[in-house]
Amino acid sequence: MAHPLEDTLIAKQIAPTAMRLLVLDVLIKHPAALSLADVEALLKHADRITVHRTLKTFTDKGLVHRVEDGSGAVKYALCEPTCTPTQHHDLHVHFFCTQCRETSCLPAVPVPVIPLPGAYQVQETSLVMKGLCPRCAGAA
Ligand SMILES: [Zn+2]
Ligand SMILES: [Zn+2]
Ligand SMILES: [Zn+2]
Repeated sequence: MAHPLEDTLIAKQIAPTAMRLLVLDVLIKHPAALSLADVEALLKHADRITVHRTLKTFTDKGLVHRVEDGSGAVKYALCEPTCTPTQHHDLHVHFFCTQCRETSCLPAVPVPVIPLPGAYQVQETSLVMKGLCPRCAGAA
C-alpha cells in the first residue's frame, strides 16, 4: 500500500520509522521553517534528543536544510527534491517576518553569487531578508 510520507523518506534513502514519519508530517503541514523546540511542541510525545537526531538525519540525507535567521534558534525547512546527501541545492533567500516571527523559504529567489576578494574560500552562503510577510503586510 503506497504511503506518500514513507515514499518521501525512501526516496532520500531514509528508513521510515514511526518518529521520522511524525516529524516529516509536522514539517509538511507547517510551510514555515521550524526550530527544534517548535517541532518538539507540535509532537506531543517526543523527547528533544530523538527529535534532534531525526532532524540531523533529515539534514544529512538532503531532506531538510538548516536556516539561520538571526532569531537565535536554528530552524529547519523541507528541501527541494533535487537535494542529495552530498549536496544541498537550497541556495535561496529566506524571509524572516518581524511581526509573526515566521521564517519562509523563497525557492524562486536564488542567492546571488557574490565575488569575494583574494584568498577567501566560501563554504556557505545564507541570505535572510527581514520585514513583513504577505499575511502580516495585509493586516497592517
Ligand atoms: Zn537541501
Ligand atoms: Zn508575518
Ligand atoms: Zn529554505
